[in-house]
Amino acid sequence: MALLSVVLPAYNEELNIANTVKTLTELFDREKIEFELVFISDGSKDGTFREIRKAAEADPGRIRGAEFSRNFGKEAGIFAGLELTRGDAVVVMDCDLQHPPEVIPQMWKLWQNGAQVVEGKKSSRGKEGLFYKLSAGLFYKIMSGLIKMDMSSSSDFKLLDRKVVDVLLSLPERNTFFRALTFWAGFDTMTVEYEVRERQFGTSKWNFFSLMKYAISNATSFSTLPLQLVTFMGMISIIFSIILGVQTLVKYLTGNSVEGFTTVILLILIIGGFIMLSLGIIGHYVARVYEEVKGRPKYIINRVTENVKGNVTGTWRK
Ligand code: UDP
Ligand code: MG
Repeated sequence: MALLSVVLPAYNEELNIANTVKTLTELFDREKIEFELVFISDGSKDGTFREIRKAAEADPGRIRGAEFSRNFGKEAGIFAGLELTRGDAVVVMDCDLQHPPEVIPQMWKLWQNGAQVVEGKKSSRGKEGLFYKLSAGLFYKIMSGLIKMDMSSSSDFKLLDRKVVDVLLSLPERNTFFRALTFWAGFDTMTVEYEVRERQFGTSKWNFFSLMKYAISNATSFSTLPLQLVTFMGMISIIFSIILGVQTLVKYLTGNSVEGFTTVILLILIIGGFIMLSLGIIGHYVARVYEEVKGRPKYIINRVTENVKGNVTGTWRK
């Protein structure tokens, strides 16, 4: 019988682990799906790993987990989780149950019918604040344009065939964007719609600044379009400088030169803005290259549950 693995990245989720384990176990037992749960505690500061260990001791055949040495981010959690899975298909989901578990049997059916990737598609974004909705909407618009794939309503909630998991794990890059990588990898993809639930316990780990950082880091690690923006800005200023230059010269030669400071101040501000923005964009790419070249691992494992064998600490893959 085929095995389904579920990867659950968790950061300060001690209140959610037991409930999530119970909900998923009951669901899969009812649906007669053979499964395993893989929890990755992303350097949690609360008792998340203690809860994971407790769950693993209660059901060592099906529940395993590991803890990072510090917070490495959800992306790293997902990839460490994938590394630990043994299933023929793998579902990645949030461990706060905002991704409704009832959707997984649907994904599983589609997989049995030949789908290699089943994308969870948000039909509604749940009860998020207006500001969050707007900024997330804008983020996905820009991302979709940048990577030329429809990213709106995409999420990290998806099922992947073993083949796809192995492809993702073999990628050498450190700055990954899981959500877009499955689009990029291709494969036979189907979608399932789901409604984002409200979080039952604990609080969301995102704020405006972490979202902005996430957006910028993903855009620059996935696309070179922002670099072309620099060329575009340069072209615009050259066109303007030619027009303005001719106008200024003509005025000078006809004896009534352009009035002084206002023009100069405006020009300096505009050009200065363009230059600094361009340097910033280039800087982001240099930072990406710098991070990749250093070749540090995506994450460091500090502890694992008793039933995880082999490489216990350090990294699974460089
Ligand atoms: N998460 C993580 N590392 C982080 C932040 C979040 O592993 O640095 C996990 C978190 O525990 C949860 C999932 O990623 O399982 C989604 O996070 P959250 O619920 O805070 O985000 P939201 O649902 O509000 O977008
Ligand atoms: Mg959540």
